Amino acid sequence: MSEPVLKAGGLVKSFGAVVATDSVSLTLNDGEIHALIGPNGAGKSTLIKQITGELTQDSGSIEFAGKPLDGLTPQARARAGLGRSFQVSALMPEMSALQNVVLAAMVKEGGPYRFFRPVLAPGPLRDVAEAALDRVGLSTRAGARVAHLSHGERRQVEIAAALALGPRALLLDEPMAGMDPEGAARLTTLLEGLRHEAPILLVEHDMDAVFRLADRISVLVAGRIIAQGHPDEIRRDPAVRAAYLGD
Ligand code: ADP
Ligand code: MG
Repeated sequence: MSEPVLKAGGLVKSFGAVVATDSVSLTLNDGEIHALIGPNGAGKSTLIKQITGELTQDSGSIEFAGKPLDGLTPQARARAGLGRSFQVSALMPEMSALQNVVLAAMVKEGGPYRFFRPVLAPGPLRDVAEAALDRVGLSTRAGARVAHLSHGERRQVEIAAALALGPRALLLDEPMAGMDPEGAARLTTLLEGLRHEAPILLVEHDMDAVFRLADRISVLVAGRIIAQGHPDEIRRDPAVRAAYLGD
């Protein structure tokens, strides 16, 4: 078997007295969707942020595509192929869907992308952005301002923005949150198809989606991984049922 694309080992992050992640280790392999589940406050977003570089771990290491990520900024990690979506939307509401995706694609160029409006002149960036919007099924809404899009459509734009970077892996933090069942079903189908383009580390509360999509599941409770395995094993695990899934 080939090496995992992403390897996190012994990640610790404390906020004062709260140990948000308490020596968390996990891997992401090519072609898979690895779901990370657990109650609110378990440390899921903190773990994702350590991988993206928004937070620095107190200890532990992260290797991505064979290289350590230590000391790299979030932008450098994105350029290295780490695609992500945010739990709280980071889109620019006054810009169009296409402009937002072009903006994301600019990260790859390394420019001061936050400080100017992206020019929509024909060119490679625009091509990449249009292809990404097409991939998520949003071509017809490319010119619409994000402020006018539905919640589900914004989520699609965020994923298009991540795809525009040509990611080697995707980190998605609750992409289904706030979606109606139809939107969630559409996104589930999209993610199912994406896993072969880029493996996905998926934080999600929608258990229908998790059990339909995941090849592997890790369960995080109070900063610690209490179980890791195939969805069927996780579903039956008494400790998981007690701590999270309920009976
Ligand atoms: P989850 O995403 O699983 O709901 P989080 O990673 O957001 O959990 O939070 C894990 C724990 O860390 C919680 O107790 C939360 O209150 C705390 N926490 C997260 N971010 C911060 C922060 N920036 N400052 C202080 N405490 C934080
Ligand atoms: Mg969270």
